[in-house]
Amino acid sequence: MALRTRFAPSPTGFLHIGGARTALFCHLHARAHGGTTILRIEDTDLQRSSQEAVDAILEGMRWLGLQPDEGPFFQSDNHQRHLAEARRLIDEGRAYRCVCTVAELDAMREEQRQKGIKPRYDGRCRHRPPDQTTDLPSVIRFKTPSTGHVSWNDLIQGEIRFDNNELDDLVLVRSDNSPTYNLAVVVDDHDMDITLVLRGEDHISNTPRQIHLLEALGYRRPDYAHMPLLHGSDGAKLSKRHGAVSVLQYREDGFLAVAVNNYLVRLGWSHGDQEFFTMTELENLFDVTRLGRSATIFNREKLLWLNGQHIRASQPHELTHELSWHLERLGLPNPGPETLSSIIPHFQERSKTMAEMAEKCRFLLVDDLPSYDQEAIRRHYAPDLHPPLEALQQRLQQLNDHSWNPAHIESTFKSVLADHHLKMGKLAQPVRIALTGTTVSPGIYETLLLLGKNKTLLRLQQGLDHFSTLARQETQST
Ligand code: GLU
Repeated sequence: MALRTRFAPSPTGFLHIGGARTALFCHLHARAHGGTTILRIEDTDLQRSSQEAVDAILEGMRWLGLQPDEGPFFQSDNHQRHLAEARRLIDEGRAYRCVCTVAELDAMREEQRQKGIKPRYDGRCRHRPPDQTTDLPSVIRFKTPSTGHVSWNDLIQGEIRFDNNELDDLVLVRSDNSPTYNLAVVVDDHDMDITLVLRGEDHISNTPRQIHLLEALGYRRPDYAHMPLLHGSDGAKLSKRHGAVSVLQYREDGFLAVAVNNYLVRLGWSHGDQEFFTMTELENLFDVTRLGRSATIFNREKLLWLNGQHIRASQPHELTHELSWHLERLGLPNPGPETLSSIIPHFQERSKTMAEMAEKCRFLLVDDLPSYDQEAIRRHYAPDLHPPLEALQQRLQQLNDHSWNPAHIESTFKSVLADHHLKMGKLAQPVRIALTGTTVSPGIYETLLLLGKNKTLLRLQQGLDHFSTLARQETQST
């Protein structure tokens, strides 16, 4: 039977890094095995679900490149079908109405606790005649088998077994007539022909209940694969303070989707000692059955390192879309994909994130520099540098447009250095500050080349004016 798997988030918050990992594994396993992915939004808890969360999940998945083959489907649309299946179970003697009040249930649990028994529903309404329950508020409970056991061969965890006497009679429909998670999931997985249920190991305790339920309903049992959860470096379950923030926050921080995916896959899965994978490689190689069973530690530093590797290994045109997104975020002009493709190679080596790359491109894209690093000017400029800087400016002016290339720019610099008995660093740093406002930029010749002759000369002039004014003010005030 063809593989069909689903990602089934509850829209009660953004798509965080743990949820993204589940979505990614569903996607990759399906791709590598010729299967189909389905997105099912589990919005049955209407109080806690929101459209905003649905949108954030869809956007997060889109950014990561994990669009489902089918869906999104909304679980709440199948409400009537869930209820109909619960009623069918009552008709077939596999479920019953329970009219126990909250006070009665509390008293029952208290009594069990006093006797030293694990608190669980004791099934007292199983045998109540139906005419005693019809007019009372009730829930629908499933008649869980009370003897024997249930087991399955988990594709990640191996054989898992539960004794039935550990499970009590599960509520299928609440007193407000809303289906519970276990009922809705079992019915939907069946109706959507799901063959593989891949989810976090926090759902393991639901699985024996779901297996009993699907067997009572006469459904085929899917395969189950429960993934180990992510933990922070202190060993605790991943939380906000460890980086369990929205995946879109990772985008804002400048991570590439492919690097996030690569990193998440490597947490628990390996292919020899290969660290770096493209999406296509992962879509061919990934196999959920080869995931390790132990909890995995999320390490942001490692992700940052991998991000730098992906930035460096990408073709410039593969980065233009993401760079454009960051430029827009920073309110910087966007010269278009073609120009960006020609600029990007000058920044790939130096940028660990795309946000950093966008910042580094700022000097090239704006008409006027917003400011200068004053501290850098103090460190790298002194009035005796004014004559060589002016000489450089004049000689650059004499280069015609055809000569605005690395060789001519270099020989112009060298002639000024020779005439003024200066070392390169002495001249290059104030030039860099004048051109970019900072001391960080691509190589000095590249910087001039990228800016072009007009902008270079204009900025040199503005920089020199600014430097000398600053120097004058400082001598006056001392
Ligand atoms: N909606 C559940 C959750 O977000 C997942 C249910 C499942 O995968 O069976 O945890």
